[in-house]
Amino acid sequence: MDDCIFCKIAAKKLGTLIFEDEGIAAFKDVNPVGPVHVLIVPKRHISGLNDASGEEALLGRMAVAAIKLAKELGISEGGYRLVMNSGLNGGQSVPHLHMHLLGGRAFGWPPG
Ligand code: 5GP
Ligand code: ZN
Repeated sequence: MDDCIFCKIAAKKLGTLIFEDEGIAAFKDVNPVGPVHVLIVPKRHISGLNDASGEEALLGRMAVAAIKLAKELGISEGGYRLVMNSGLNGGQSVPHLHMHLLGGRAFGWPPG
């Protein structure tokens, strides 16, 4: 999608990827909320979870990439959080499907 920031990053027209395969890309969040804050996205534009109900393989691939990145970034043992915000109440601000990988400090629960 032409005017989508995450499409541009995933296509390497902007920013720097820290991981990619045929279908997904990962990059550092521009406004990190912890020492590790990575976003994992599909390369093809999907607006969010509501448009991903048939995307079992893609969602699994994103989660497995997050597990691998957590290990590489040294946060596996200490613990980490995977978050996917959906819509207004979920706090989604960028309308391109993404998974947050958060780590390097303790996060509170429940979310605010
Ligand atoms: P959401 O609130 O939609 O779950 O998360 C969107 C995330 O994207 C936020 O954490 C925000 O900091 C990040 N973000 C927004 N614009 C950009 C950008 O242009 N580059 C990068 N690397 N991250 C971005
Ligand atoms: Zn997009």
